[in-house]
Amino acid sequence: PVTTDPLHIAVIGGGIGGLAAALAIARSGHTVTLVERAARFGEIGAGLQLAPNASLALEELGVLQAVRRTAVVPPALVMMDALTGHQITSLDLRSTAYTKRFTHPYLVTHRTDLHSALLTACQEQPSVTLRTAHTVTRVDQDESGVRLHFAESPTVLTADAVVAADGLHSRLRRILVDDGDPVCSRYVAFRGALPTEKMTGRMSQHAASEAVMVWAGPRMHLVQYPVRRGELYNQVAVFESDHYTPDSDDWGTEAELEERFAGTCQAVRDALPLVARDRRWPLYDRLPVADWVHGRIVLLGDAAHPMLQYLAQGACQALEDAVALGNALGQFTDPTEAFHAYADRRRERAALIQTSARRFGEICHLEGMGATLRTMLLSSRRADDFDDISWVWTPSAATVPTP
Ligand code: FAD
Repeated sequence: PVTTDPLHIAVIGGGIGGLAAALAIARSGHTVTLVERAARFGEIGAGLQLAPNASLALEELGVLQAVRRTAVVPPALVMMDALTGHQITSLDLRSTAYTKRFTHPYLVTHRTDLHSALLTACQEQPSVTLRTAHTVTRVDQDESGVRLHFAESPTVLTADAVVAADGLHSRLRRILVDDGDPVCSRYVAFRGALPTEKMTGRMSQHAASEAVMVWAGPRMHLVQYPVRRGELYNQVAVFESDHYTPDSDDWGTEAELEERFAGTCQAVRDALPLVARDRRWPLYDRLPVADWVHGRIVLLGDAAHPMLQYLAQGACQALEDAVALGNALGQFTDPTEAFHAYADRRRERAALIQTSARRFGEICHLEGMGATLRTMLLSSRRADDFDDISWVWTPSAATVPTP
């Protein structure tokens, strides 16, 4: 914790990134006001994979035990061929090789459970003020501090500096970084968690195994894993639409979902009717940018490095950001210096994961000869060989393997 006068830091956004940042900043001895535009704090009703780099970050934030109360430790990550139903490859998360290499567990959790653990921890910090129904419209800064303006009221919030954790469509980023709109991948996701007992037939066996199952097929895949002590089963169906049109929601529809998954194996077809259909998520990312810091304003989480979900790392990286930001604010008295130290620590790693996620998606969605070659190459891997993924799962990894 700081020994000089604490700073007052404003955090924009009460998602996983913003709450984790507020917690980390408070734990480093500063005062925080977090503002969220929604009327209530919350997350969507779906799951989240937390690789060992995220569980280490959660420990550093003091919330790992709370998250572990409901999270599941899956025995394996299993990649299946969605067309043939045969296994392509797997990673044994309970092997000696895993525990030797990674100090922390691989977890799968309900988003709400992680979000609530972070929210509760923030509420327990006397130096954190949480405000909902506050949509930031503008931030001004000068040499003495920042001023946040809101859509709902004329009241202005002043602070020493501001962390923009306002997500993929970050308003702050749009003003500060000149890189246009997020890039739509033309893929969409349908997702949600439902009571595990609803899984029947072959799917109930996969659910009972508690493994993370990834059924990879041509321009589509299905991910499944248990959450909340195994009481709920999370399913995410993802596919590329042939009917993408910018500025319209009339693409990536439920009918296209059925069409794209029509040729899959029985196990996937059994699961499909149980995939939540009430909402679809178009999938976006951006190319990495270097300028996360603008005087007294800094970007964090998806606002800084939005990525496709194929490495399941977006939230994990936001948690790493939060820890790094807290550490930097514990070391520097000047917020801009702390922000630069944080960005220098995080920028390159987040960028590599951002671009690697795109590549991993391409490998997952191969068709024809590409898919055959992928399966040939991956099927000879041992289940305790973590060489390809360990740089992603190890926050301090200085180097990445050459492609
Ligand atoms: P957000 O969650 O978007 O939070 C931003 C917050 O800011 C919101 O609450 C919003 O209301 C608020 N806000 C926005 N604008 C304003 C404003 N002007 N004023 C005030 N508040 C504002 N990641 C993983 O690590 N593991 C996974 O398994 C995984 N699976 C995924 C699966 C899918 C299908 C998708 C789409 C993503 C997945 N991710 C995963 C990525 C992960 O969900 C995101 O990276 C993470 O949630 C980003 O958190 P955030 O706090 O940065 O942004």
